[in-house]
Amino acid sequence: MWVYRLKGSPWELDPLIPELFARGARGLEEREGEILAYFPAPQDLPYGGVWEAFPDEDWLEAWRRDLKPVEAGPFLVLAPWHSWEGEGIPLVIEPGMAFGTGHHETTRLALAALARHLRPGEKVLDLGTGSGILAIAAARLGGEAVGVDVDGSVLPQAEANARQNGVSVRFLLGSLEEARPLGPFGLVVANLFAELHRDLAPLYPEALAPGGRLLLTGILKEKAPLVREALAGAGLGPLEEAAEGEWVLLAYRR
Ligand code: SAM
Repeated sequence: MWVYRLKGSPWELDPLIPELFARGARGLEEREGEILAYFPAPQDLPYGGVWEAFPDEDWLEAWRRDLKPVEAGPFLVLAPWHSWEGEGIPLVIEPGMAFGTGHHETTRLALAALARHLRPGEKVLDLGTGSGILAIAAARLGGEAVGVDVDGSVLPQAEANARQNGVSVRFLLGSLEEARPLGPFGLVVANLFAELHRDLAPLYPEALAPGGRLLLTGILKEKAPLVREALAGAGLGPLEEAAEGEWVLLAYRR
């Protein structure tokens, strides 16, 4: 395992987190004034960080020690070694190998929005499923959930997470095109990034059933206008917006 150590302020570093995962980071630790992104091998990255070799066991040990349960909407996101009693819908997610431990604002925004918008029994697509957390949450709320990801390496972990939570979710390799034959979907949730949502905007309506809802996050506040414009251009109507820190979630309707 290699660690890419990147120094900066939270507002400089936060926007880079999805990009680091998109470039293959397997885990990420936020510390005071820096982030540590863990990769299987070093690569050329344009952010000015430094690479250090890191023994696998140390990384896993540090990760497990620092991870705390997370509340998001009606959910409580737990690692398998956390003990829990009380209110909330538990989601047990094995952290470390894929984005989606509930520790990022965008995942929390999407979890809370799922609880507000999902109707039991409807088909739900989680586009960019990572750990499978949003698809698993959708299944816990009574949805018929499908999770897709362009990174095939995350799918075995997503499947294991679904088993651990006792829910049935169909995971597949690909993106919107590959998922569309399994639709149309009453609800599509996607935690990607603004430019990708803009590019996918013309395809979103085709994946949605009439009246279907679209929950998009991974969007920095200053980039929300380009997504709003693209969704309006695709004929979708705004439903609501939510924000946490620098991140927003946009809900639209077909
Ligand atoms: N859904 C999880 C969550 O909300 O915490 C993970 C979101 S993570 C920010 C984005 C995921 O989308 C990554 O697993 C990445 O591999 C995947 N991804 C990136 N581009 C994609 C695309 N065009 N289609 C499908 N998945 C994509």
